Amino acid sequence: MNVNTTLDESTIRESLMQDETSKHALFMQQALNMGERALEEGETPVGCVLVYDNKIVGCGMNDTNRSMNGTRHAEFIAIEQLLQSHPKSILQSTDLYVTVEPCVMCASALRQYRIRSVYFGCRNERFGGTGSILSLHSEYAPALQLIELKTLMLK
Ligand SMILES: [Zn+2]
Repeated sequence: MNVNTTLDESTIRESLMQDETSKHALFMQQALNMGERALEEGETPVGCVLVYDNKIVGCGMNDTNRSMNGTRHAEFIAIEQLLQSHPKSILQSTDLYVTVEPCVMCASALRQYRIRSVYFGCRNERFGGTGSILSLHSEYAPALQLIELKTLMLK
């Protein structure tokens, strides 16, 4: 076999990056679907999914209007769902895909659970807790990735 016919390293890297990007796009689409459901139900259209080992292990959408409870944000609902079937410790190896940057309250909870990565669709200029208003994650867990997915996907 002629080794020169194998893919060169940059092609392999590019294809891995595309795989990574399509993985992000797939999970973000699921988060967007949850956001659409929230909108249909008269809620602020925010949705999210929690991904562990490439599988969705929790999903949530805002539920503050129906429940009349200001803490019922999509992230809290997804975490609650995850904890029904998984130990808290898996959050350290779990990624969050959320349509909007988590608010200060959720960012603080995500920090306490030591979630691995947060991917968000757009910034939250009023309440953002992962960079826009406060940076609740910046000084801990160097492995934590906070990535604005829009930016990532345009690369
Ligand atoms: Zn929140």
